[in-house]
Amino acid sequence: MSFADLHLSDELLRAVTDSGYNDPTPIQRQAIPHVLMGRDIIGVAQTGTGKTASFVLPMIDILASGRSRARMPRSLIIAPTRELADQVAENFVKYGKYHKLTMALLIGGVGFGDQDKALAKGVDVLIATPGRLMDQFERGKILLSGVDILVIDEADRMLDMGFIPDVEKICSKINPNRQTLLFSATMPPPIKKLADRFMREPRVIEV
Ligand code: AMP
Repeated sequence: MSFADLHLSDELLRAVTDSGYNDPTPIQRQAIPHVLMGRDIIGVAQTGTGKTASFVLPMIDILASGRSRARMPRSLIIAPTRELADQVAENFVKYGKYHKLTMALLIGGVGFGDQDKALAKGVDVLIATPGRLMDQFERGKILLSGVDILVIDEADRMLDMGFIPDVEKICSKINPNRQTLLFSATMPPPIKKLADRFMREPRVIEV
């Protein structure tokens, strides 16, 4: 199976070709069709499997139609660390180079000024670590009710870092009809519980 079989847009295929990739990895082959159909997925995958592109690519095509509103991000990716949030952002920039999506990165250790400005305008993609996201939510700078796609990346690391209560709070504030994509290298019981509580008939993809 090639990238061209995955029903991605021509612009996206061009960006993938520019990245030098020949074929989709197993997680990409299995996840992308479900994501494009609007289904929830649990991707049990380690870093290095190409898991980031398995959600970033279809999200770019989904978000290409529609437009963001002030303070209401249309998609939200939560990641456990600044480094991972940065990597996800880089992926959106790389694969989204032929699209006009707006993005903001909400991570700790960075001043609020630029983040506030970006949020006020409204963004298609918001990438955040849980602590800073909760701060901004409590300061009234973001409304989570417009999020149609939620990604929880490296859920098992969030568990190790004590972020699950924040993640649960975030999940409960987002439109329940959203699409949820959860990625984790392992599925310990608290992550299974999180998925049972906040996901709808997720397809489980293990690579
Ligand atoms: P990830 O598992 O998302 O951290 O990705 C691991 C690495 O694989 C990254 O450096 C990506 O640029 C690269 N990568 C992602 N998809 C592909 C692909 N289809 N073919 C070759 N490399 C890829």
